[in-house]
Amino acid sequence: MSDVAAIFETMSYGPAPEADAAARAWLAAHGARFGLYINGQWVAPVGAAATFDCRNPATGEHLAAIAIAGPADVDAAVAAAAAAAPAWAKRRGHERARVLYALARLVQKSSRVLAVLESLDNGKPIRETRDIDVPLVARHFYHHAGWAQLLAQEAPQMLPLGVVGQVIPWNFPLLMLAWKLAPALACGNTVVLKPAEFTSLTALYFAELCSEAGVPPGVVNIVTGAAETGQALVDHPVVAKIAFTGSTEVGRMIRSRTAGSGKRLSLELGGKSPFIVLEDADLDGAVEGLIDAIWFNQGEVCCAGSRLLVEESVAARLLEKIKARLANFRIGNPLDKCIDMGAIVDPIQRERIDRLVGQAESEGGQVWRAPLGFPAAGSYYPPTLITHLGSANTAWREEIFGPVLAVMSFRSVAEAQQLANNSRYGLSATIWSENINRALELANAVKAGVVWINCTNQFDAACPFGGIKESGYGREGGLLGLQEYLKPPREWLAETTVRLPAGELRSGASGGDPIDRTAKQYIGGRQMRPDGGETRLVATHDGRAAGRVSVGNRKDIRDAVEAACGAESWAKATAHLRAQILYFIAENLSIRAREFKARLVDLTGVTAAAARREVAASIERLFSYAAWADKFEGAVHRPPARQLVLSVHEPLGVIGVVCPDALPLLGLISLIAPVIALGNRCVAVPSERYPLLATDFYQVLDTSDLPGGVVNIVTGASESLAKTLAEHDQLDGLWYHGTAAGSRLIEAASIGNLKRTWVNDGHARDWWSPQSGEGRAFLAAASQVKTIWLPYGD
Ligand code: NDP
Repeated sequence: MSDVAAIFETMSYGPAPEADAAARAWLAAHGARFGLYINGQWVAPVGAAATFDCRNPATGEHLAAIAIAGPADVDAAVAAAAAAAPAWAKRRGHERARVLYALARLVQKSSRVLAVLESLDNGKPIRETRDIDVPLVARHFYHHAGWAQLLAQEAPQMLPLGVVGQVIPWNFPLLMLAWKLAPALACGNTVVLKPAEFTSLTALYFAELCSEAGVPPGVVNIVTGAAETGQALVDHPVVAKIAFTGSTEVGRMIRSRTAGSGKRLSLELGGKSPFIVLEDADLDGAVEGLIDAIWFNQGEVCCAGSRLLVEESVAARLLEKIKARLANFRIGNPLDKCIDMGAIVDPIQRERIDRLVGQAESEGGQVWRAPLGFPAAGSYYPPTLITHLGSANTAWREEIFGPVLAVMSFRSVAEAQQLANNSRYGLSATIWSENINRALELANAVKAGVVWINCTNQFDAACPFGGIKESGYGREGGLLGLQEYLKPPREWLAETTVRLPAGELRSGASGGDPIDRTAKQYIGGRQMRPDGGETRLVATHDGRAAGRVSVGNRKDIRDAVEAACGAESWAKATAHLRAQILYFIAENLSIRAREFKARLVDLTGVTAAAARREVAASIERLFSYAAWADKFEGAVHRPPARQLVLSVHEPLGVIGVVCPDALPLLGLISLIAPVIALGNRCVAVPSERYPLLATDFYQVLDTSDLPGGVVNIVTGASESLAKTLAEHDQLDGLWYHGTAAGSRLIEAASIGNLKRTWVNDGHARDWWSPQSGEGRAFLAAASQVKTIWLPYGD
């Protein structure tokens, strides 16, 4: 007996490798050389026919030579996608649903070979590719087959965008392909997709599944290559949208290169996500959670819980438990079914991880590496903890993208919140606590696109995923994800906008009114003189002097943003209260309707009837957003696992609003009202030509119980104030209605903090129409979705 017990105690794992014969046979069938998948066929690249090497990171073994697509190849792929787009868009939803369903089935039927290929190419354990990646890929195509079927009823009139360019990373190669392709195809778009250079194989295998599933030629095109290939796709003028997942650095570059092109853009970027353990947590559960948070997929996960924040009273105990758990960890051959962690994707990435850990150590961090053996050949890195950190340490701030956990303790929930939010990223957060009230309160307070409570790294096709701040914008999954690939039939009027000149004063005209009528800036709920002390005369439509207005500068914008940041309590005000205040603003505008009508006639020269109509439409618009304030609600999702998932709309934060010259009152109110209805604060730059409407309007705000700082108004030169706003890193969003050149400038200047921009590319909007002048598009631009995961049961 004692011998058997001793054997059990000392027994070690034998190797349990998954067979790789089928995957290798597929590589051999292609002669271990791959061309490009364009227009439903394998084609050789035009020109030099250069290839790159695809290697197995676990051994360094050469797996295949893969074609590098040059600009001419990208052009051919985009042309094929453009040619296929009209017919694919016209197909009935049911027909598209059948194709997506066929893809889902084929992924399931090929699941073993796909899982093995992914492990060979990426280095991730077969346990994960087999049980997580590939099943989620199939689920994604099933879910979106359903959306293709239902879209005509659920989003009637919405149209596909056309050709979509998609650039994906190497950490979840096939899963990211599915996240990108499934919604794009369901909505009737055609696609050119570029996989990451380290991991192209499963995308190439998937290309063959497309042919088998009856995806029409040209609907899916796959171009392999490095950064230059991605860049050619990003720059291509026919591409209507770029969907990118990868590093924040490249995301920034793509934002800047697509500025002014009118391309839609969604960015899923890096993260440095907090994993918060409160003292009442189930610590053993939290340790298992941490394993999934930072050692799943070798820590090469954008939403990895890479910053552990643990309540001081349990910190020592938790660290002890983590180290004990890691002592039994197994690193090795990714195809071994009993392996916990496989290989890092490439020696370059391994060196990057090592360099960042070294840097953290030199900055005072204490590094602990799990004392585990692993194969000498191949690109492996042990699970690593770094303690004794200050918040400026590299390990605490930078995305390491490897199996490295940075650890810090906190004394109160308020401190945890402050430390968690002190990051330029905002992708995800994990909270571990047995007290649901505390956990939900913290979930509400953390700045992240996804929050997992007592679980981590959960994904589902129905549940929106995506980040805030420098983690990017846009959501993938569910109805929200589909909206990234659809557009309304008519968003803009045919005409384009120009900025009206300031307005000529007749010679001899002056502001010689005996009463000083200089309108000041409106900052923090107070009328403020402009920092530069400069004012200018504003002309009426026929060249008389209507009054003086302040000329704002950078400092005024800075003061206004600071005041808006200081009015954060507005975000916490109830929707009911915000609605009441919007109704009150409407009521007070109504009382002064005659005065506003006269001002419009005087400044713009419209007829009295037209001015009356604009004031009435402005009042009605305020009513609309008072109505919307408590009705723009989220959703509850039911993924396959035992979890309840909430999508909650949160305000974006501080939004800059640069107003059009056309309809200077209705335009201003149509932009300010949705922003404040959802709890944002705003810095508005009114029409440069007709600023007095805005300065009259703040007197209405003053009498309507709106807290100071919620709306701030800075008058002056629109374009230069807009640029200052675009460059301001405390601004979370910027809506710009001006010229095409101005739109380009705003998008390019937004890359500092990757603020969300919404520009008109020089088009005119029909402010009269409730379809294009108000509604869900405005509310969506004024909010961000937080997805909160709540498991239930034992
Ligand atoms: P990148 O952001 O460079 O790569 C992501 C994708 O973009 C790849 O397909 C890449 O091609 C492509 N790409 C690179 N440069 C350009 C460009 N100028 N224009 C268009 N496409 C481009 O990530 P890396 O693979 O280089 O990894 C670097 C770091 O990024 C990692 O250490 C990690 O910190 C982070 N990262 C974050 C991810 C996330 O999901 N948040 C995912 C991957 C990485 P190619 O692979 O051929 O270079």
